[in-house]
Amino acid sequence: MANQNEIPMDDVKDMAAAEKPAAKRVRKPKTKTEEANSTASLFGFAPYQEKKNEEYMSEGQLEHFRKILNAWKEELMSEVDRTLTSMQDESSALPDVNDRATQEEEFAIELRTRDRERKLIRKIEQSLQTIQDEDYGYCETCGIEIGLRRLEARPTATLCIDCKTLAEIKEKQNNG
Ligand SMILES: [Zn+2]
Repeated sequence: MANQNEIPMDDVKDMAAAEKPAAKRVRKPKTKTEEANSTASLFGFAPYQEKKNEEYMSEGQLEHFRKILNAWKEELMSEVDRTLTSMQDESSALPDVNDRATQEEEFAIELRTRDRERKLIRKIEQSLQTIQDEDYGYCETCGIEIGLRRLEARPTATLCIDCKTLAEIKEKQNNG
């Protein structure tokens, strides 16, 4: 596991310089609501470059993840808007019975997608709150650092990889 550096007191003064956010490139997201390999890179954020001896979840890091989560949330919210608008547009004037049936199926799928998006938005908001409280980035179960790279892949992660794996095994057992 990386990034578990101790911070010698001598280096604390260097950490002020580390607050500059990572470089950001403006790029259109490729896919919309999926959690791709790295949500961060999806929104055009370069991976966070840690300064030497930088404290885990420093101001700069918290700011980095706040930006990623906000960009993600905005994208999801405009997605919800788009779905609503397109459903309103399509629901007018479809006289054919078969067309109606197809349309209702499509609507059902869109509603499920929207429901997923809403849940994800809530999760993102919870993550933003933990950034606010400066609790972000630590495993809810064991308290260990979740790690920058894992958080960049999944900015809403609340468990370290070990606890996540365990939780998934338990869930499988309960459902099986
Ligand atoms: Zn854990």
